[in-house]
Amino acid sequence: MFFHVEFLVFACSDSRVCPSYVLNFQPGEAFVVRNIANMVPPYDKSKYSGTGAAIEYAVVHLKVENIVVIGHSCCGGIKGLMSIPDDGTTASDFIEQWVQICNPAKSKVKEASNSDFSEQCTNLEKEAVNVSLGNLLTYPFVRDAVVKKTIALKGAHYDFVNGAFELWDIDFKISPSVSF
Ligand SMILES: [Zn+2]
Repeated sequence: MFFHVEFLVFACSDSRVCPSYVLNFQPGEAFVVRNIANMVPPYDKSKYSGTGAAIEYAVVHLKVENIVVIGHSCCGGIKGLMSIPDDGTTASDFIEQWVQICNPAKSKVKEASNSDFSEQCTNLEKEAVNVSLGNLLTYPFVRDAVVKKTIALKGAHYDFVNGAFELWDIDFKISPSVSF
């Protein structure tokens, strides 16, 4: 039987946000990568080879047409990132180093508002998705496909408290001649 896998999905490892359940993906529809706080690290062969291999396989071999990064409400990984003190002190072996992939989003959220902690976390859940979408472009095969318009990158946020699902497009306005 032939399936065309249309989606590469990044979702959090959190058991409450299984993408097949949330989006009703059938077997064969979505190639799924799940990790703490649904983050896409930048291209790095030594540090992030597991994620890189999954992206390369989905894009080069499965030829997915969409990459969707899905953030979610009450994300513990995002809360963890938000809680790292400004001096950068960390207490975990892996977790905090991992979530700091989205440090640029944290800075943006902190600069943008002095809202309370939970509101900042909600904003960070969404801004971190945008950082991940930007990081996808550091993979040459993703960038090429985006330039050729054979792949669309989409951000999403699933709020399981209110039962809301938000989906957005990113228009990077990139051209093949500009190095990233
Ligand atoms: Zn999460």
